[in-house]
Amino acid sequence: SLVVTGATGHLGRLVVAALLERGVPAAEVVALGRDEARLAELDALGVTTRRVDYADADALSDALAGADRVLLISGSEVGQRLAQHENVIAAARAAGVGLLAYTSIANADTSTMILAAEHRATEEAVVASGLPHTFLRNSWYTENYTGQLATYAEHGTVLGAAGDGRVSAATRADYAEAAAAALLLDQPRRVYELGGAAFSLKELATTVGDVLGKDVTYTDLPADELTRVLVGAGLPEGYAAVLADADLGLGRGDLHVEPTDLEALLGRPATSLADAVRAAAAPRG
Ligand code: NDP
Repeated sequence: SLVVTGATGHLGRLVVAALLERGVPAAEVVALGRDEARLAELDALGVTTRRVDYADADALSDALAGADRVLLISGSEVGQRLAQHENVIAAARAAGVGLLAYTSIANADTSTMILAAEHRATEEAVVASGLPHTFLRNSWYTENYTGQLATYAEHGTVLGAAGDGRVSAATRADYAEAAAAALLLDQPRRVYELGGAAFSLKELATTVGDVLGKDVTYTDLPADELTRVLVGAGLPEGYAAVLADADLGLGRGDLHVEPTDLEALLGRPATSLADAVRAAAAPRG
């Protein structure tokens, strides 16, 4: 079987759909997560679902027993992720899986962003496990930006602390399709650096403005000021600081990769920023 963790999340759901789209029988897919409603939706697709918390090592061992391949989608509880991922790695090792794929971060081995530390440590734990593995080092999701279109439009500006740095963002759907493709390769590479065509936040503002038919500019702020703005918008202080730090990393090129690996797995170019912004701006029926 093919086990997908985090299958109840935004990316995981798309990976399960992409596996089925590629002809994997639903009976061979095992989807893990905690959210009951999302698990019920996955059940309806015919895949096997298991409600498992990463903290529960025994439940993970049960869920992974007999698995051929596992996709570990990185968790969302920043700060607790290494211990959680280690539990999945241990269960995969006990099951003797033939491949452990992990959704990491762009340039995980050199990235200076705070957010990269748990990914780097997880990669090291995967290597230490001795399991055959592949690292899907995803850059930013385009949705990190398209999810804020209303705010950009309201204020006429994109705020950031990334200077002229360029980010190789790609849509979750493209990363999901790439992950499904890599999972199904006989021998995937050890590392894929995944991202789309790179853009600066100034270019993001221009694209958003063009699509919305409004003036939208980029405003570069010092990281501590961006943190204050994010806290003012309701984010917890620690998380706001991590996001501002990520923008500094973006500015240093931490989220920049060539689009070649993603294109190779997709067999086509990645969805462009303009297309993603247009899709997000389109009224939904
Ligand atoms: P989501 O927040 O939508 O999904 C996170 C998934 O992780 C959910 O399925 C959730 O399960 C699962 N999960 C979290 N904690 C636990 C736990 N303790 N035990 C079991 N499952 C757990 O994130 P996305 O799908 O959008 O992104 C996937 C991952 O990518 C994120 O978790 C994060 O690591 C990373 N990320 C990357 C970004 C980027 O720009 N590249 C941006 C944001 C995140 P459930 O909901 O059922 O509890």
